[in-house]
Amino acid sequence: MTTNAIKTTIAGSLPKPAWLAKPQVLWAPWQLEGEALAEGKRDAVRSALKMQETAGIDIVGDGEQTRMHFVHGFLQGVEGVDFSRLKRIGIRADRYEADCPTVSGPVARKNPVHVDDVRFARANTTNKMKFTLPGPMTMVDTLADEYYKDRAKLAFALAELLNAEARELAALGVDTIQFDEPAFNVFLEDVRDWGIAALERAAQGLTCTTAVHICYGYGIKANDDWKRTLGGQWRQYESTFPLLAKSSIKQVSLECANSHVPMELISLLKGKDVLVGAIDVASNTVETPEEVAATLRRALQFVPLDHLHGCTNCGMAPIARPIAQAKLHALTAGARLLSRELGVA
Ligand code: ZN
Repeated sequence: MTTNAIKTTIAGSLPKPAWLAKPQVLWAPWQLEGEALAEGKRDAVRSALKMQETAGIDIVGDGEQTRMHFVHGFLQGVEGVDFSRLKRIGIRADRYEADCPTVSGPVARKNPVHVDDVRFARANTTNKMKFTLPGPMTMVDTLADEYYKDRAKLAFALAELLNAEARELAALGVDTIQFDEPAFNVFLEDVRDWGIAALERAAQGLTCTTAVHICYGYGIKANDDWKRTLGGQWRQYESTFPLLAKSSIKQVSLECANSHVPMELISLLKGKDVLVGAIDVASNTVETPEEVAATLRRALQFVPLDHLHGCTNCGMAPIARPIAQAKLHALTAGARLLSRELGVA
């Protein structure tokens, strides 16, 4: 039996300060340039770490403060991806349109992309640290491919680059590498046919903890509209979780707060750590500790206590900073409340 309190972490992004990027906007352009931008990013990372530490988050991240977007941040360092040729395409099965760079040749990672970011973040916190990278399938879905013309082929090519990057980041002291795969909730057959295999290729040989985050997207209008079409029960996880249970990935981060995901689907993740989203990122209403505890308590019917972590549903990039901060406090207060109740605090 475990004697540890329930651990907390975040899915990934946090809002950026207004002086760094326009608030509450995805893909918000930087407000600074050159050395001022580099310094601004470092200040923002320090501040994001502090925000989590103050709230009592156990496994912290850099809040993705150095990236304009969670997919394109890594791709900006990849050869063969042309950011001068942005194409407006429908992504996540045409749920919304985004300006995506073009794949114009073989992809290659000539230099490490996030090594400096990780080195800086690692030096600025003593907590356990997680770093997020986009998953291969979600990357493919956020690119205009004119070269591979085969989604699986491109995914495996990108997975190789991700793996090389992830190994270097882990060597710098990252405790958890998480791959973000919101596309896993959209292309269910592709997940089965090549998505899991590409994800495992990206995580191959990593000795740190590995995680995958699968959600129903940021709290933006296109996603809210889509969720309304999914009916009273969201069962996308039902086909994916058994595949993930058999995979080498150790943790699964998923959306539970205010969602129509039937909680019992968690039982399909036997053996995995489950990062239960107990904070709704599509609402400005701050959860009470009791509400967070209630979500985690419901999850406990389907996952053993020592495999349960409290988490946010998704990244918090598009929400206001003070609200994000309050939600982090609610998350840790709720996890503590339940831990005390269970006698593991
Ligand atoms: Zn997400």
